[in-house]
Amino acid sequence: MHSLIPYGRQSVSEEDIQAVVGVLRSDWLTQGPVVEQFEKAVADYCGSRFAVAVNSGTSALHIACLAADLGPGDILWTSPVTFVASANCALYCGAGVDFVDIDPRTCNMSVDCLREKLEQAERHGKLPKVVIPVHFAGQSCEMEAIQSLSQRYGFSIIEDASHAAGGRYKGNPVGNCRYSDMTIFSFHPVKIITSGEGGMVLTNSSEFHRRLVRLRSHGITRDPELMAGESHGPWYYQQIELGYNYRMTDIQAALGLSQTMRLDDFVIRRRRLAARYDSALAGLPIRGISLREECVCAYHLYVIILESHRRAAIFEALRSAGIGVNVHYLPVHMQPYFARFGFTAGMFPRAEEYYRKALTLPLFTDMTDTQFRHVVGTVRGLLT
Ligand SMILES: *Cc1c(COP(=O)(O)O)cnc(C)c1O
Repeated sequence: MHSLIPYGRQSVSEEDIQAVVGVLRSDWLTQGPVVEQFEKAVADYCGSRFAVAVNSGTSALHIACLAADLGPGDILWTSPVTFVASANCALYCGAGVDFVDIDPRTCNMSVDCLREKLEQAERHGKLPKVVIPVHFAGQSCEMEAIQSLSQRYGFSIIEDASHAAGGRYKGNPVGNCRYSDMTIFSFHPVKIITSGEGGMVLTNSSEFHRRLVRLRSHGITRDPELMAGESHGPWYYQQIELGYNYRMTDIQAALGLSQTMRLDDFVIRRRRLAARYDSALAGLPIRGISLREECVCAYHLYVIILESHRRAAIFEALRSAGIGVNVHYLPVHMQPYFARFGFTAGMFPRAEEYYRKALTLPLFTDMTDTQFRHVVGTVRGLLT
């Protein structure tokens, strides 16, 4: 019996290892010159002006919300089909959270649902302060339409691009923030590139950038212009707001920087595997996520949506065959913790329908041909 084929895993090269070892032999272990290089490499890749590296994608979401001035009395909207962190970041800020149902074709936040919900919210005087579109599975949301709604209704946009590093929208890299205030990435090992744990906030605004840098490190500044009273001297710093220790280490940044060099190769490989799945599984009673013409999907996940409700049995059979299938995600509003905010099953029916039928197949850069053929053969055997 072979070991479980994971649904996702990192690809670490000898160069990656040497880069990390290089930092271990240097003077700096915590945030230092390599974090700066990593930030510059990702900002250059994406075409954004600024990037702020932090210790996780979740921390990136938290400080992005704080930089957007989200606080008590405010409300944040996101997709129900996402990892819990996209909603928890609102709760960390003392704000409320609500969800916008998905488009069943792309499984991204539906622009029509968003528009309708905004019209209703305006009537009730309860418009969101922040909206977090999540680029599910690696395909960008319809950012141009979401941006034009943001101009009409006055909310900030933070793109959760945890799945979408290396993806493109309307010809430009996801993360260039052309249609948003900020974009966040996660560098958890199952994501497209990794730094062990890690995340980053990208923005084109120097104001957001300054604020993010401060929030990452205790709310401390060394800029005399921002200080209360006179600076006492060159050693002097002040804490002017409540921040955190969300810093990334140079050890992590070395891995992330080295991986950034291979980001395009990773996405090409993932897209090739996804295309092979598409043709090898054609004709089965399943569908995939519909891709929009203006998007290049980075394929963090390869999701199939079954036509029947036999998901549990198929999941078990695949696991028994050594295939580490997964389900992304139980819609966040159905998490027990969210019941206290009044959320119940039935509120976001398209997300719930998707959840009942969805299955994530293994997809990762170093997947072998033997692994791939085993997955395809087993899935075909179960579904024909
Ligand atoms: C992974 C993920 C996060 C959180 O990232 P961490 O680095 O694990 O904190 C947030 N949102 C989405 C959609 C994710 O997939």
